[in-house]
Amino acid sequence: MMMSFPFDNSYVRLPERFFARRAPTPVAAPRLIQVNRTLAGELGLDPDWLAGPEGIAALAGNGIPPGADPVATAYAGHQFGQFVPQLGDGRAVLLGEVVGRDGRRRDIQLKGAGPTPFSRSGDGRAALGPVLREYLVSEAMAALGIPTTRALAAVATGEPVMRETPLPGAVLTRVAASHIRVGTFQFFAARGDVEALRALADHVVARHYPEAAQAQNPYRALLDGVIAAQAALVARWLLVGFVHGVMNTDNMSVAGETIDYGPCAFLDAYDPRTVYSSIDRAGRYAYGEQPRIALWNLTRLAETLLPLLADDETEAVAAAEAALAGYAPHFEAAYHGGLARKIGLGDLREGDAALAGDLLRRMAENQADFTRTFRALCEAAERPAGDGAVRDLFVDPTAYDDWAPRWRARLAEEARDPAETAAAMRAVNPAFIPRNHQVEAMIAAAVERADFAPFAALLAVLARPYADQPDQARFAEAPEGGGVGYRTFCGT
Ligand code: AMP
Ligand code: MG
Repeated sequence: MMMSFPFDNSYVRLPERFFARRAPTPVAAPRLIQVNRTLAGELGLDPDWLAGPEGIAALAGNGIPPGADPVATAYAGHQFGQFVPQLGDGRAVLLGEVVGRDGRRRDIQLKGAGPTPFSRSGDGRAALGPVLREYLVSEAMAALGIPTTRALAAVATGEPVMRETPLPGAVLTRVAASHIRVGTFQFFAARGDVEALRALADHVVARHYPEAAQAQNPYRALLDGVIAAQAALVARWLLVGFVHGVMNTDNMSVAGETIDYGPCAFLDAYDPRTVYSSIDRAGRYAYGEQPRIALWNLTRLAETLLPLLADDETEAVAAAEAALAGYAPHFEAAYHGGLARKIGLGDLREGDAALAGDLLRRMAENQADFTRTFRALCEAAERPAGDGAVRDLFVDPTAYDDWAPRWRARLAEEARDPAETAAAMRAVNPAFIPRNHQVEAMIAAAVERADFAPFAALLAVLARPYADQPDQARFAEAPEGGGVGYRTFCGT
């Protein structure tokens, strides 16, 4: 166990124009809300040190731990389709990198750590509500097995942040494979800075896609790697009903992790047109649009890489197009394979995708709760008496009755017995997701009454999403009316 952080910083060895050196701005009265002891252990950190006075000072930005080299990173990005040549970390400071016990290098970043040269008109701060939302949802995603940034700690600052009304402020300590985004590549491409692009691409290859270094064309292999990782990631989102909400290119990690939890939310009733974010008026980032948007973002990444892919432009464009053509098969294999597993089918056969698609269509027509339907289906796979609980989730239960016999006939062709099938289904169909109404209640308790008990309770339940936790059944309940009309706001 290490006191402080065993920093080993590689990003700051890149050219100066990649970042701006900036220490976090101290806060008035830091108070620890939560420290992630398990994650601390994985990173080789001493959780007791983190929760002590020196640790809290480091997590609040009031003290710079030894070995830290704090910077705000530069990036650009397409926000709702509009290119902004300079964004950058406006309210986050990268303290440095640590190599964990598993040998993985990870960024330690303070989000809400005060203004930076990239803050534009923002205050560089984060409000408590969005910090708790990101902490909870990112940890829930990790427990679901979905690649994501992690939350190491949340600290209240003791200072208000001015939004529409004054709100309590907080700092989130975020852990990520890296914070390099599609927008980081766009930052240098927009400036015609090929030298920086090459340095960035080499850094990303070494850090995230080391096998690409051996390829005939390492930059093509890098692009292939990012495309495959992102296709798999978006499939995983869809399979648990996750809506990221703001898939701007600056919010897409090239390491294939879910990043920048702002207006994200999980589906209650299944409807692929679902949009939660109040600012996404055109539904650009609706649940069902996410695969298409990911490809759009990857196309922007491919464009930035053109000068590296080949000296000849036609050749470079052909290489980029060939790489992008790999997206759909990767996504479809991950999504359809995942859907088949959700309905208990181990090996994907002809017709399985259509069978699962038919269920989804019926769920959408009948406002069936996404998570509850698939979880109830696990029981139904084990014994037909379980059908009652599934059909009750459909406005017209006969929509399920029509589908179930075809599903059973297909299940009978599987080589597993019903108990094995049900166990396999329970390992991919969570009982517990961060339910929007519960996340809101948790935030209200913390913000209005400084009551963090609901946060801790929800966090504990969501750490074991695939386990039946009968005494926690209220956390698996769907909201009244299927959650229709729920709105989220950007985490600023
Ligand atoms: P986000 O929507 O959180 O992904 O942020 C988009 C951009 O706005 C990023 O460049 C952020 O750093 C910046 N930003 C968001 N909130 C603030 C804030 N309160 N102060 C300064 N910059 C911010
Ligand atoms: Mg962002």
